[in-house]
Amino acid sequence: MSQIRECLEDGWTGSGHKTLEIEQAWRDYTGLPHAHFVNSATAALHLAVRVLKEQRGWHSGDEVITTPITFVSTNHAILYEGLSPVFADVDEYACLSPESVLSQLTPRTRAVMFVGLGGRTGRLEEIVDICRANGLSLILDAAHLAGTKFKGEDPGHLADAACYSFQAVKNVPTADSGMVCFIDPEMDALARKLSWLGIDKDTYSRSSGGSYAWMYGVENLGYKYNGNSVMAALALVGLKYLDEDNARRYLINAYYEDLLGLEGFQVVPSSPNCRSSNHLTQVVVENRPKVIRALQEHSIFPGVHYRDNLDYPMYSHAKGSCPQAEYLSHHLLSLPNHYQVTENDAAEVASIIAQSGRPAPLVSRA
Ligand SMILES: *Cc1c(COP(=O)(O)O)cnc(C)c1O
Repeated sequence: MSQIRECLEDGWTGSGHKTLEIEQAWRDYTGLPHAHFVNSATAALHLAVRVLKEQRGWHSGDEVITTPITFVSTNHAILYEGLSPVFADVDEYACLSPESVLSQLTPRTRAVMFVGLGGRTGRLEEIVDICRANGLSLILDAAHLAGTKFKGEDPGHLADAACYSFQAVKNVPTADSGMVCFIDPEMDALARKLSWLGIDKDTYSRSSGGSYAWMYGVENLGYKYNGNSVMAALALVGLKYLDEDNARRYLINAYYEDLLGLEGFQVVPSSPNCRSSNHLTQVVVENRPKVIRALQEHSIFPGVHYRDNLDYPMYSHAKGSCPQAEYLSHHLLSLPNHYQVTENDAAEVASIIAQSGRPAPLVSRA
């Protein structure tokens, strides 16, 4: 409460003040060179695509390779800029498969959009190699990756732009906000301008000042994507507890793995060198509708992340091209794993799944 009270008592709830504080705190936490606080990860993803497009001279219709298993923000961000989403299939981590990405490369491919699903980095390092070898940009949808460590570091270091979500149900919960982190300082500067309607205040305050301090230039057709100090205050508190919360999620995830493993079920694993934020604990079941009903009868409400995006009309042209994604879309189930879930709760969930469910393989046999 005291963080928010500070904003209200200072009378400063907009951008600046706490938004600068959270940007510094996020740079310190991740070790990333730049961090810009915005009003959602959806805005962060759009800015990432827009800034890379502008700085690297992409054209409408150029291609971005992406995944069908994600929240639609990921793929909408590509369409917002008139680029063409090209779908590659996922692997046993429910993240982009490097083999499938390679098979989708064309002369018009400009970037890969990698989603760290559930907090896992999958085979991100191989995707980085593919991007380097083919001159492609890499955007990381890090909405689930707050606190994930790859080889001990924040995975944002591996991408040209990493986009984190601090939405209400994410690992740093605010109400709505996010962070876009570019490696390149010019991209960071352009994103800052575009997130505030294209207003270039700094140039004018430097060159005129005095009685013209009210004057500013508008150099780009930007957006109202800036974050505010009330959200930043919440994020500062959330960040303080992030490692502790994630450690708790890690234990609950391991507990589910043990209990469900004994019954022949598989929880989607983390790849080697990845310490997942465990944003999601996901199990694969053969008969998902029945398992969901059984859990609901005990007032337990599991989630589904996500429905195959190729089921939606704006992406349906690619329907049928990603069989593993389609398979997971029908068999993945997300289990309660937030910090208030106890070992007893997890044991109850696991036992209901064991009674009502049939195990399914991580990878489609089709
Ligand atoms: C939540 C989420 C987003 C969007 O985040 P917002 O902050 O709600 O805009 C994008 N991608 C993934 C994978 C998400 O889970």
